[in-house]
Amino acid sequence: MKPALNRRQALLAGGAAWCCTLPIARANDTRTLNFVIVSDTHLGRNDNDVAERNWLQAIDEINQQPGEFVLHLGDVVDGGRPAQYPRYAELRKRLHKPIHEIPGNHDPVDLFRQHIAKPIDRVLDCGDFRFLLINNAHRDSHHGFITGEQLQWLDRQCVEASKQSRLAVLCCHVPIHSNKHPDRGWYVLPQDGQREFYELRERHSATLIASLHGHFHNGIRGWRDHGEMVETLLPSVCYNQSRGLAEHLQAGRADGFFVDELRPGYVLAELGQGRLKLQYKPLRHEPNGEYAAKWPAK
Ligand SMILES: [Zn+2]
Repeated sequence: MKPALNRRQALLAGGAAWCCTLPIARANDTRTLNFVIVSDTHLGRNDNDVAERNWLQAIDEINQQPGEFVLHLGDVVDGGRPAQYPRYAELRKRLHKPIHEIPGNHDPVDLFRQHIAKPIDRVLDCGDFRFLLINNAHRDSHHGFITGEQLQWLDRQCVEASKQSRLAVLCCHVPIHSNKHPDRGWYVLPQDGQREFYELRERHSATLIASLHGHFHNGIRGWRDHGEMVETLLPSVCYNQSRGLAEHLQAGRADGFFVDELRPGYVLAELGQGRLKLQYKPLRHEPNGEYAAKWPAK
């Protein structure tokens, strides 16, 4: 006798007619995954040890936190200082969880490959989710990119994820979302892959549910205006800056979401059962503030 299909398989078997409701149904059917997100450690910044001390504090704390692994969203080292890469590689051994880094605009890719991760663009499968890690940062520009080759790779990974009933989350340092003042105005320009990326997102709206970025040092900030996808920036564990975002949002001069907390910190993430929860954990302090998204959005 043929085994009964579970709800996810049944929905998948439903084919094209289901394509619009599929992500929502699948999102609700996923097991919850706990992980930790850090970004922008900037080791060596100002040629003092403040960044290193913050990173060590974060490591100590993260070792006590729930979470199967750690994502690091780039700018591992400040200004590409070569001596800081072996130092970073040494320090991360103190972490009792696997860590997966991507480069930021401060990280030369050759040093990153040599000391941190090779290949840089890679897949992390965990439970019902597939994390797609890519480098999209230039050393000499704050804008990002997604190459044609990366788009093809992302496309294949999303097809594969969908076949395996996994939902996909993209991780890249520079946000793709167009943003302007009061935000930084740094993103992937339409001619540098943004247009094709959003076309890809539409083709894979059943699969690609979120994108995670660093780069802005603005705490938890983001938007949800491309379908159901959540696009979010994560805080720096080294330093964050107030750009009057809370006031601008309140006055209607900016849209999207923002957690009004800017102390150096990291994020405790919970993803599954139709929900993404990002909880801000300032170093040495209790968690303060969170962003939560649900599928369906409304
Ligand atoms: Zn940075």
